[in-house]
Amino acid sequence: MINYREAQQILVARARSFGRERVGLEQAYGRVLTERIRADRDYPPFNRSTMDGYAIRYSDWESGIRDFSITEVIYAGALPAKTIGPGECYKIMTGAAVPQGADAVIRKEEVEEDARWIHTGQAVCLPFQNIASRGEDLQSGDTVIQAACLCDPSVMGLLASVGKEQVEVEKLPAVSLFTTGNEIVPFDAPASLLQIRNSNRWVLESLFAGGGGIRPRSFAHLPDDRRLLHSSLEAALGSDLIVLSGGVSAGDADFVPGVLEEIGVRKLFHKVAIKPGKPVWCGILPNGGMVFALPGNPFSCLVTFRLFIQSYLNACFGLSGPIRFELPLQAAKIKKTVLDEFFPVRITGDPAWLDQVPLNGSGDIRLGLRANALGLHPAAAGGLEEGDRVICLPYQV
Ligand code: AMP
Ligand code: MG
Repeated sequence: MINYREAQQILVARARSFGRERVGLEQAYGRVLTERIRADRDYPPFNRSTMDGYAIRYSDWESGIRDFSITEVIYAGALPAKTIGPGECYKIMTGAAVPQGADAVIRKEEVEEDARWIHTGQAVCLPFQNIASRGEDLQSGDTVIQAACLCDPSVMGLLASVGKEQVEVEKLPAVSLFTTGNEIVPFDAPASLLQIRNSNRWVLESLFAGGGGIRPRSFAHLPDDRRLLHSSLEAALGSDLIVLSGGVSAGDADFVPGVLEEIGVRKLFHKVAIKPGKPVWCGILPNGGMVFALPGNPFSCLVTFRLFIQSYLNACFGLSGPIRFELPLQAAKIKKTVLDEFFPVRITGDPAWLDQVPLNGSGDIRLGLRANALGLHPAAAGGLEEGDRVICLPYQV
């Protein structure tokens, strides 16, 4: 049986872009930018006052002048009418353009002022103080973003600053989502004692929504019926991604792996040495797309999505994989298997540590409620002691 790192490597090696498209800036948040972004002009575009204060000629200051007459008031977005002369200053607002001739700004708080004069007795002054010079952040044409970059709030602000109305982004994959199982009913249908409400659909749709806003183009629930599985999955062969939950274990009604191979999906791996999620099955579609058949237990479904689908999608989008880091574990944990065990943890505290979140096995519908990361209890490790450093994979980076 391969381990989860090997499985991830197999997937990453098969990663491919789903194409590119142009979208308006209002659609770009959370998407992956594929074009290089350059500064359309110098930034700042003019010598910008970074303070409310008074703009003077530094040569005046050097020659010993400490009292200045106010020639004009300059607001952000405006230009002065008059040129500054010896012994004169402009009253200037934060964000306004420092006019030609002026080359230092003394902060308002440092001077005594009246309507027409300022007295700068105690102030200090250096050339270009409190001025962000034209082009000191970026020069026109400078590359600000190299491709493959997630449009986060900073990127969104930057794109707006440089006037990008449209940007080129990675296309989202066409995902066909299926859940399986005779006992599964929709959450809003009456459920007999022997029936289970379909939670995986909602887990998976939420995970996709969180992964760059992917909305599966289709969803269907299928009974454990070979023929129905066959026809329904065959009809989805044109997808970029087929994701299934349930029916991949060793039970007599676990038809999913067999049916996938029947319809021409080439198996990459079946079973990974992890707990939960061991029965996960993965294969390549005839069109180069990917099939992920995840185990049906809710927490297994969540773990295998994060470990495999998320890593695969990141690689497809040209992003680096989910980050991992190490934090001390708050309480001891025993090892139950020889597998890599993933367990729900909450990163908390300052400085941070990991609290274990109670979970009664992978079938627990609480799904590690309030967890914000998966902890890893490595295959080779014995029991974990309080304070042991543990690798964790945060849900959100
Ligand atoms: P399976 O992987 O099909 O053997 O299912 C394993 C366990 O997960 C069973 O107890 C199922 O009832 C449960 N299960 C399967 N699919 C779902 C689903 N969509 N929502 C909630 N529980 C599920
Ligand atoms: Mg089942």
